[in-house]
Amino acid sequence: VTDYLDRIGRSESLNAFVEVYAEDALARAREVDARVKTRSAGRLAGLVIGVKDVISHQGYALQAGSRILSGYKSPYHATVIQRVLDEDAVIIGRQNCDEFAMGSSNENSAFGPVANAAATDRVPGGSSGGSAVAVQAGLCHASLGSDTGGSVRQPASFCGVVGLKPTYGRVSRWGLVAYASSFDCIGPITRSVEDAALLLEIIAGKDDADSTVSSAAVPAYSASLSWSGQARIGYLEESVTSEAIQPEVREQTLSMLRKLEAEGHVVEPVSFRSAKYLLPTYYILTTAEASSNLSRFDGVRYGYRAKGVKDLETLYKRSRSEGFGKEVKRRILLGTFVLSASYYDAYYTKAQRVRRLIVDETKEALSRFDFIVSPVAPTTAFKRGEKTQDPLQMYLADIFTVQANVTGLPAISVPNGVDREGLPIGFQMMGRAFEEDKLLSFGNHVS
Ligand code: GLN
Repeated sequence: VTDYLDRIGRSESLNAFVEVYAEDALARAREVDARVKTRSAGRLAGLVIGVKDVISHQGYALQAGSRILSGYKSPYHATVIQRVLDEDAVIIGRQNCDEFAMGSSNENSAFGPVANAAATDRVPGGSSGGSAVAVQAGLCHASLGSDTGGSVRQPASFCGVVGLKPTYGRVSRWGLVAYASSFDCIGPITRSVEDAALLLEIIAGKDDADSTVSSAAVPAYSASLSWSGQARIGYLEESVTSEAIQPEVREQTLSMLRKLEAEGHVVEPVSFRSAKYLLPTYYILTTAEASSNLSRFDGVRYGYRAKGVKDLETLYKRSRSEGFGKEVKRRILLGTFVLSASYYDAYYTKAQRVRRLIVDETKEALSRFDFIVSPVAPTTAFKRGEKTQDPLQMYLADIFTVQANVTGLPAISVPNGVDREGLPIGFQMMGRAFEEDKLLSFGNHVS
């Protein structure tokens, strides 16, 4: 803990942490040390982790990167926090992220942008940018992030670390600030696949506080990380042919595919008729769910309240206008539009139906392949400010990651070399529902 605190102190300019629990982390480390001496410590004893600012940690501030939650403290632990604490992890601090996890570059935070440690004029990806940089720069051992459309995998890719988005329903969302409830997943960001397996093993599994969590038994992921036998791999054809993909990203992906083929795995192209509907479906459904979820921030119940207001209507308006940032407002407007009486069927209902088609088409492909693979993102980390004026360009950063969330399937991001400027490239593998064990052992094999 001392070592990490020291490094955090020297890396303040990265802006990865919004709060560091120096005293509390040291005190807890002493307690854990005592249990280690009596051989009664949990499985995470010695592990120092950071937590994205969207996961409730009892007694500590929680802001989801937003001004609207300023002054708010978590009244209870998220299930994932309770579970890592029960296994003696030390939590060292709260990590910067895009406001309400909306973004792909960590430029939408009330706490300011996060810098990529590989090149500080570059974004770390988002929305779990602080969590990825913290692992990249050695400011903690591992992080817990959240992934609604790529927010664990894409920043992991931009920062050269491992990111895992579990199957929807594998990990409890209790205590996670909701963005789009039917997409949101908590997942680990780590240096190795082994660490991701260990953390998943501890945070996954049945939880009475979240009815969407599966009661399926949790395998000992970390104990079975070796891959044997032939895998059937479908690669997204467009991801290695399209001119829109950065050439070095294409080359590194192709060289990974050639390596896998040389090892004897079946490697074949796959493409989806529904591919062009992925981003529209994702953004219609997630903004709809977000507009509903964010209606609770009314200036009365949580955090920020506008000053000097006399009537309730004005209190709501002013608190929300002053409390939410631009991207969050854009999404609330889009979401309320697609849910409005005159447009509900044309957008929301239609997108729900398309979601079903995408699920069916993806499941069909996964009956032929063990994994569907692609780069994690079409480019390496871009420059800060490069895409902030054009939200549609920003949304394209998620082109390869959203399919796993639209379908609820698990996916992992592992490092796959660097580009000419030394910026990390990531390789993504998506697997069948609840087959994280296969995903992790194959991920371990390729990384
Ligand atoms: N970048 C995507 C979005 O802005 C994904 C975010 C996430 O996974 N939380 O919605």
